[in-house]
Amino acid sequence: MKDFDLKLPDSLDAAVGELPSEYSRDGAQVLAGGQDIVTVMKDAIERPAALVSLQRLGLDAIEWDGDGGVTIGATVTIQALAEDPNMEFSLPALREAARSIGSPQIRSQGTVGGNLNQRPRCPYYRHPSVSCFKKGGSVCLAEFGFNKYAAIFGGGPSYYSHPSDLATVLLMLGATVSITGPAGERRVPLSELYLLPEDALDTETVLSPDEILTSVHIPAQPPGARSSYLKFKERASYDFALAAVAVSVTRGDDGVVTEARVVLGGVAPKPWEVPAAARALVGEPMGPQAWTAAGEAAVADADPLEHNGYKIHLVKGLLFRALEALA
Ligand SMILES: Cc1cc2nc3c(=O)[nH]c(=O)nc-3n(C[C@H](O)[C@H](O)[C@H](O)COP(=O)(O)OP(=O)(O)OC[C@H]3O[C@@H](n4cnc5c(N)ncnc54)[C@H](O)[C@@H]3O)c2cc1C
Repeated sequence: MKDFDLKLPDSLDAAVGELPSEYSRDGAQVLAGGQDIVTVMKDAIERPAALVSLQRLGLDAIEWDGDGGVTIGATVTIQALAEDPNMEFSLPALREAARSIGSPQIRSQGTVGGNLNQRPRCPYYRHPSVSCFKKGGSVCLAEFGFNKYAAIFGGGPSYYSHPSDLATVLLMLGATVSITGPAGERRVPLSELYLLPEDALDTETVLSPDEILTSVHIPAQPPGARSSYLKFKERASYDFALAAVAVSVTRGDDGVVTEARVVLGGVAPKPWEVPAAARALVGEPMGPQAWTAAGEAAVADADPLEHNGYKIHLVKGLLFRALEALA
């Protein structure tokens, strides 16, 4: 691995000041838990001259509002999120997503901000000696090559699928992220955080290279809303999602669904909300007929590649099971 400087700033301004305004594979980058950035450096996919650690910035608190909302600091570990005593009762889907990530070691080291900003896991992108669109090349080898793990929605010209379990649930929960850069702080809804490959190839988010994601805010959920996260992974012990669903449902006294939100993970270059699936649930009683209709609506716009059509069946099955569990 190429030598690099380790910067340990003790204020947000100083940290931002260490970061470059333009992206380059050699420019300074943010270091959180190091689970991902060090891997891409070892494989020479990124070659930053410096890493700017967030360790001393005090971004490691989980703060519950009186009204049921919560603000989660960027360097809160995934393990701390999973173990927060209020999480099981207030946000069980987020707890489930946190618990589904990696192994105990990965959860103890990996942070919420790092999880949301981690780079794609596409085997071509991760291969040290393969060039592709994501690394300044002129091709996406997944489009016609090995594309079992690739996107079935939102792909082109690159077809990676987004790896973050937390992002899928946070979008379903209506979260907003706080971002600090040279111009100060801005708040961005999670629905606007991620970019598609058609918008940008050298990044996956709207963050500039000199911006730091400092926290995530989840608003209070609608009264009576119940939510669930279900993930299918190839390896039972620990693995990324082949497909996942985050779903929230609110029912009236008569049992009919009044509000719903459905977000898919592992199937697109960003967490993929499917409003048509939510519409198929609203106005219907919770039951197999509505769950099947929601599944069909969820995959109606899927555009699979040669080896990943199975994700369509996974999404339908996962959504049915997640709704069945909520019922
Ligand atoms: C074997 C393995 C299995 C895994 N399985 C899963 C899984 O099943 N599901 C899942 O969701 N994740 C999974 N992960 C990812 C893991 O959850 C880590 O969260 C993730 O790798 C990065 O977290 P980190 O804190 O170590 O970030 P780092 O490696 O320090 O940073 C990751 C990237 O984000 C940038 N970054 C970090 N923090 C910020 C910030 N606050 N603002 C701006 N940019 C920032 C860095 O510059 C870097 O580009 C797995 C990882 C491994 C190694």
